[in-house]
Amino acid sequence: MNRSLLFALGFFFLWGNAATAAEKTHWGYTGHGAPERWGELSENYALCKTGKHQSPVNLSGTVKANLNAIDFSYRPAPLRVVNNGHTIQVNYPKGSFITVDGRDFALLQFHFHSPSENRINGNAFPMEAHLVHADKEGNLAVVAVMLTSGKVHAMLDNVWKHMPASAGGKASPAGVEINAMDLLPEDKRYYRLSGSLTTPPCTEGVRWFVMKAPATVSGKQADQFRSTMGRHTNRPVQPVNARVVLE
Ligand SMILES: [Zn+2]
Repeated sequence: MNRSLLFALGFFFLWGNAATAAEKTHWGYTGHGAPERWGELSENYALCKTGKHQSPVNLSGTVKANLNAIDFSYRPAPLRVVNNGHTIQVNYPKGSFITVDGRDFALLQFHFHSPSENRINGNAFPMEAHLVHADKEGNLAVVAVMLTSGKVHAMLDNVWKHMPASAGGKASPAGVEINAMDLLPEDKRYYRLSGSLTTPPCTEGVRWFVMKAPATVSGKQADQFRSTMGRHTNRPVQPVNARVVLE
């Protein structure tokens, strides 16, 4: 199960568009493939409809807990950016990881949504970054960073400069390095809950760590993302059900 999930994720995340274009079930954020219908588009997407631990959520009514700091071991990497038709995604080479719950989760990629998917006490943000990790067994961990309106985000500027304009586009410009550390806010306190992928197949069992402190994105940067990917690249919030959000 985990191995096949990892395999599927590899296709989805690393070869994104090539795989999704070949699928018969087209999902998206508007029209026939809109989030309300994901669960009906394919048997494989059933959890999008029936799951009880779905993401994103509105993070509120949190419970205070002694959460250990996430240990971030990210290294600089050559920029590899893909427009997979759903988002702008930066694929990361081996060697960067987080340590949490006594396990290492390798950073696979990061990507963006607009507006934010998760909400904090009901508040949405112009954008949200997701850093997607997996441990050796294929367990997933996502670190989410809200991007609020403000100063130009220097690292995003570097990525946006090479943003492929159309689905399936890729860029790996020579000599351009980025560091995923530059996405993280200085204050690394977080909310934690168990959730899912926010895109089909909406797989559950994902550890979510949502940074409490936002980073900033300029209006122009947010506009550039939206004009390339569309106004809405966010799944609506899902019921929390019996889950507890730790703070
Ligand atoms: Zn995401």
